[in-house]
Amino acid sequence: MLEILNKMFESSVTFKGKCIDCGCDVIIDIVPTSSGYGLNGGALLKSSTDKCCAKCPDCYKANPKLNDQNSAQR
Ligand SMILES: [Zn+2]
Repeated sequence: MLEILNKMFESSVTFKGKCIDCGCDVIIDIVPTSSGYGLNGGALLKSSTDKCCAKCPDCYKANPKLNDQNSAQR
């Protein structure tokens, strides 16, 4: 049983970055689940330029989409 838990921790990934909306630090745990994978602590999004962007839970709730057009906004 412990071995299985260790394997799960090994295969989980932590993404560290900044929220593209508010700029706060985002730490997202990507954990394998029975249906694929799950995200804890925020959301990962793929931009039109194929980059991975992170959003904190608050900003993701307010706007779950990427605003590529608003990239000039600070
Ligand atoms: Zn944010």
